[in-house]
Amino acid sequence: MKKKLPTALPFQSGRGTVAVHGGHKKDPLYAHQVPIYASSTYVFDSAEQGMRRFAGEEEGYIYSRWGNPTMTEAEEKIAALETFGLDTEAKGILHASGMAAISTLLLAQLKPGDKVLSHYSLYGGTNELLSKVLPRLQIEPVIADLRNPAIAEEMLKKDKSIRLLYLETPANPTIQCVDLEVLAEIARKYGVITAVDNTFATPFLQQPFRYGIDFIVHSTTKFLNGHGTAIGGILLGRDTEFMNGPCTKLHRMLGGNANPFDAFLLIQGMKTLEVRMERHCSNAMEVAQFLNGHPAVAKVNYTGLPAHPDYAVAQKQMRHPGAMLSFELNGGLEAGIRFMNKLQLCVRTVSLGTCDTLLSHPASMTHYSVPREEKEKYGITDGLIRMNVGIENAPDIIADLEQALLS
Ligand SMILES: *Cc1c(COP(=O)(O)O)cnc(C)c1O
Repeated sequence: MKKKLPTALPFQSGRGTVAVHGGHKKDPLYAHQVPIYASSTYVFDSAEQGMRRFAGEEEGYIYSRWGNPTMTEAEEKIAALETFGLDTEAKGILHASGMAAISTLLLAQLKPGDKVLSHYSLYGGTNELLSKVLPRLQIEPVIADLRNPAIAEEMLKKDKSIRLLYLETPANPTIQCVDLEVLAEIARKYGVITAVDNTFATPFLQQPFRYGIDFIVHSTTKFLNGHGTAIGGILLGRDTEFMNGPCTKLHRMLGGNANPFDAFLLIQGMKTLEVRMERHCSNAMEVAQFLNGHPAVAKVNYTGLPAHPDYAVAQKQMRHPGAMLSFELNGGLEAGIRFMNKLQLCVRTVSLGTCDTLLSHPASMTHYSVPREEKEKYGITDGLIRMNVGIENAPDIIADLEQALLS
């Protein structure tokens, strides 16, 4: 298969090799690691050179809101991972956050009168952007249960103003998955563009471009950075003409650019993506099996367990069910609070994708002030615990859960 890495590697390299070396360019001053180019502007040798750079006739950096060498390395490494083994090119634009990347995508693609078809269980910020901000620009969301692709087809058939199909898989809090291959095919049939938030899976577990998805967004804050040290996001597209043209232009204007220090942290984190994900995943499977059948636990939501309603979809499109799971305690809100307070090793916090195991209790934390009916729409019950399984030794994670589950 033809391979078009932005920075070509010498062999038909594996994913782990691409994670380590992908996107790296030899430094002119022989630095081993990519330097943090902490410079807001770049110098021109002559007025003519400045002219050529502004005209796009000569490659070169001008201003760091527009692009920066440290940021470029991160962009090319992620593009190389997302196109790994595929006969496709992709261009990535690094952003200040996942939300900034999503905002650029939506503003670059949609105009008044357009609609976005999406599903429940989207990331909270994305949900608010679609339901509260875009309607001010006469762009409306259509939300349906897209785990049933027939519903997507029905919507696209009857509403010609739907321009974008926006997906997030797997998604919080019950780790719902949608079928990328089937939905991409339906979207193509109706001339609708497709985008996937691939944050939970990372390109190590799932490559949406494999199914002909047009755009991928990530919150690089999570597994890609991997250590919880920086906020960041990326927008990737297969249509490099659009990405390098109108999309880059809008991105530069909106100003949701990343910065070189956070890009540096992201690059260092991504080098271990493969080994981290392998450990995250094997630990998650062990933890899910431990929780499943524990007398204090009513239900485990993990796509690696055959009882999960999206087990088959996850098996089909992901290399492993991943590191995210949630579980329902028998005792409701009180049991949730008691359990959270008893944790000794695992960390009580929101977010995900770090080396340490993180747990949160939406009913007493993120969703404390959300009305009950609203919470139930998103599958958030009083005893629900959300968990990002880390890369500690599995027996230690399980021992902490075990003692915290004792009543
Ligand atoms: C965190 C997250 C986002 C938002 O990313 P930020 O980097 O916090 O802006 C979007 N989607 C998913 C699935 C996330 O987990």
